[in-house]
Amino acid sequence: MLFTDTFTSGIPRWILPIFVAFTLLTAGGCVTMYSIMVPSTTGIYHTVLPGEDFWRITTAYEVDPGIIAEVNRLYNPDDLESGDVLFIPGAKKVIEIPPPSPEELAEELKSGLFSWPVDGMIYSVFGPRWGRMHTGIDISARSGTPVAAARGGDVVFVGRRGGYGVMIEMKHDDHYSTVYAHLRDTYVVEGDRIREGEVIGEVGCTGRCTGPHCHFEILYDGEHRDPLFFLP
Ligand SMILES: [Zn+2]
Repeated sequence: MLFTDTFTSGIPRWILPIFVAFTLLTAGGCVTMYSIMVPSTTGIYHTVLPGEDFWRITTAYEVDPGIIAEVNRLYNPDDLESGDVLFIPGAKKVIEIPPPSPEELAEELKSGLFSWPVDGMIYSVFGPRWGRMHTGIDISARSGTPVAAARGGDVVFVGRRGGYGVMIEMKHDDHYSTVYAHLRDTYVVEGDRIREGEVIGEVGCTGRCTGPHCHFEILYDGEHRDPLFFLP
């Protein structure tokens, strides 16, 4: 036997295989891993009500969102709908999820309202610039880069307008409108109804322009707003 020499006569032989097995199990970490991954058996079932979302629920129950997602096999938490049932491990009773504050609600609404019209770099932001107001953001991109509708709506103007060069104006629901300027080409005409993400033109450098870019504006009731505030 290999180990006979190193073991003194005082220790019984049968200790060795037990010692080896114990060392392997704990070193491999198997024992501890499994005890974490198996969901705790205590907890409650929470039925999702209208207006509640995954993040609001996990915050209210003070349970790690990752654990709730894993235990409920929720691969995309944003897919959660009212009427779905979530198991909340460790919770003792169903609690009422507080409604979002007006500020939270406004933030949620705004940040999801528009999408990026051009895949490019922002090189000029909204606000005072060289002593005058810059009424939108400038997204720098190669000439010919597709320009997409930042939101679904109606095309209300296509054509040249002073320093804007070739531009498109769209009207959306809830008093909003968007402007896409300095275009090289346009694919839409006035009166077209366009879905969000649909390509409406190409980046160019028409009008007052020093390099190809899309000047993008968001207006509410005709007032210029900071587009970055509305983009994801
Ligand atoms: Zn601009």
